[in-house]
Amino acid sequence: MSRFWSPFVKDLVPYVPGEQPKLDNLIKLNTNENPYGPSPRVIEAIEAQLGDSLRLYPAPNADDLKSIISRYYAVEPAQVFVGNGSDEVLAHVFHGLFQHAQPVLFPDISYSFYPVYCGLYGIQSETVSLAQDFTIRVEDYSRPNGGIIFPNPNAPTGILLGLDKIEQILQANQNSVVVVDEAYVDFGGNTAISLVNRYPNLLVTQTLSKSRSLAGLRVGLAVGHPDLIEALERIKNSFNSYPLDRLAIAGAVAAFEDEPYFQQTCAAVIDGRTALVNALEVLGFEVLPSAANFVFVRHPEKDAAEVALALREQRIIVRHFKLPRIDQFLRITVGTDQHIQALIKALGSLL
Ligand SMILES: *Cc1c(COP(=O)(O)O)cnc(C)c1O
Repeated sequence: MSRFWSPFVKDLVPYVPGEQPKLDNLIKLNTNENPYGPSPRVIEAIEAQLGDSLRLYPAPNADDLKSIISRYYAVEPAQVFVGNGSDEVLAHVFHGLFQHAQPVLFPDISYSFYPVYCGLYGIQSETVSLAQDFTIRVEDYSRPNGGIIFPNPNAPTGILLGLDKIEQILQANQNSVVVVDEAYVDFGGNTAISLVNRYPNLLVTQTLSKSRSLAGLRVGLAVGHPDLIEALERIKNSFNSYPLDRLAIAGAVAAFEDEPYFQQTCAAVIDGRTALVNALEVLGFEVLPSAANFVFVRHPEKDAAEVALALREQRIIVRHFKLPRIDQFLRITVGTDQHIQALIKALGSLL
């Protein structure tokens, strides 16, 4: 703290990202990155940008990217917003689409950035407890609110909520914006984008960080009614006109163009998840049903923090949250077959 800080900065409680250690030979299963690299066409597209054109500003509205996303999801370009990672998109959502005087609702076990944005923008919030089995109870979202947000599949549980249940939430909340954060939807869920034309209060956010293996490029998107998108554009153009640089736009367009690579790598992650779940269950772990590229597990006899520490000594990093209800769980990202084998071997020897 310093006397130069504004009172506002003094009171901020920032998000703490999963660590990105600078060690070699590490099996990194802590931040849900994709173990398969991005499409070779993405690399080519980015390389093609490396030249004189970098002296020019990028397209302020990333129209090429919005256009391919709108075709991909069969919506209008005016229904698409893009930002510097879905975290930035979510920040603008909290700022521009949630009513600040009424509490925004999100699950008690959920993405830990949501309360941070509430703090940043001075938004009231209320957490809604997940059921005992960690599923979302839709009937608990029928109370006055300034907006609703939840990941689907949820993080860090991995549990998927059906589109019929999402419609129940939308129908009960026609006067507030409902945001479905689909960071992991490509690993086994159905996107709620199919509902945006029927629900003007629905906004769906996605990221290229997980299923398209581009966490380092920072591209996220939102799809919804043009009025919702316009609010996000107003915020964006009052903050940073160029959130996506030339490399990010070119790489993201190429990622949507290479559908076969996307399908192939998603299928490989899903197969890896099945293998990982089976092996963990053989070792006695309880595994929540996951539709994501990670699993959320607990062992009836072993302390989660101790297991995480022991794995770390073997250069395998998983995520442990020291939080109520889930402090005996570990979140483990689905890696390659070799990562999974190494993890299972390490767990087998320490159990
Ligand atoms: C990873 C993640 C994000 C953020 O993705 P970026 O596009 O990398 O900012 C948003 N929501 C959830 C639930 C996530 O897990």
